[in-house]
Amino acid sequence: MKKRLDLESLREGVLSGSRVLLSQAITLVESALESDQKLAAELVQSLMAHTGKSIRIGITGVPGVGKSTFIEAFGMLLLRQGKKVAVLTIDPSSQLSKGSILGDKTRMERLAADKQAFIRPSPSGTTLGGVSGKTREAMLLCEAAGFDVVLVETVGVGQSETAVKNMVDYFLLLMLAGAGDELQGIKRGIMEMADALVIHKADGENLDEAKKAKANYQNALHLFPASQKDWTPRIALASSMTGSGLEEVWEQVLLYEAKMKGNGFWESNRAAQRLSWLDEQIQFLLGQAFSKDPRVSQSLEEYVEKIRSGALNPGTLAKKLVSLFLSKRSPR
Ligand code: GDP
Repeated sequence: MKKRLDLESLREGVLSGSRVLLSQAITLVESALESDQKLAAELVQSLMAHTGKSIRIGITGVPGVGKSTFIEAFGMLLLRQGKKVAVLTIDPSSQLSKGSILGDKTRMERLAADKQAFIRPSPSGTTLGGVSGKTREAMLLCEAAGFDVVLVETVGVGQSETAVKNMVDYFLLLMLAGAGDELQGIKRGIMEMADALVIHKADGENLDEAKKAKANYQNALHLFPASQKDWTPRIALASSMTGSGLEEVWEQVLLYEAKMKGNGFWESNRAAQRLSWLDEQIQFLLGQAFSKDPRVSQSLEEYVEKIRSGALNPGTLAKKLVSLFLSKRSPR
């Protein structure tokens, strides 16, 4: 950070809804410096009472399905309804794909220009645990700053979808008609995680195909086991080009919110998410401390060839390294 801010100015700045100070607060959360991390932890803790009031929506789909375009159009719709909208992206590989992030920025130009919106690309980092922890804290900061809706976009594949599902209230899967599920990399597991399926780009000559796809997915969903929260994923047709279907997507979110708040799932889901966040962060911090331990890395270096060649059992070495890591810390 260019200028160091104290806890109180950051706190007040975030609470006042300043996008500049919110941005600086998120930078602090993302910082690897120990002194920054200490301040960030105090900041987030001091704001906890002001968090939790937004609707958290996760958005996923394969590259090219139109996520950025959808988020911009959907975000603009929410702004017109008087909502403040924050967009966070989660992408553990973002260091490798800086180009696409710059691209996203230009695609969400209208949204980014509006004072009632806030867009923040994924923090850099190679491990999902690190990235998702920071994204969760960024989300809390956005809530403290008064954003009513937080859209979390996942650009990644596989694990990052699960990470996003675990931090949002509502999980939306964008799909294309005409491309087979296989082609879209859509696993049944991801469909099962979704609260809504949106057949996107349902416009022009795609429209007929999109209608057919909707009917097919509707049939497929009947085969899924009923979810504990009593919700069958909704399927909508939408086009971010024409804007059609976007209102319906939002109405479904509101319907879901009302129903889940009514049956208690909203809060129990968030409580479970907090516990899994705790667990994930413990694993992450332990892993980080382990790999930073010089005795561990020295020993690893010594034996790695034997692991590669198959001369040494990986399980044996793992036990040895963990004992080494723990022994240093235990009182004599
Ligand atoms: P992302 O990779 O999932 O973020 O996808 P983009 O938002 O970059 O969109 C990929 C391409 O699809 C772009 O060329 C968009 O112009 C196009 N696209 C996005 N939304 C729509 C839509 O609703 N209808 C049509 N026909 N094309 C769209």
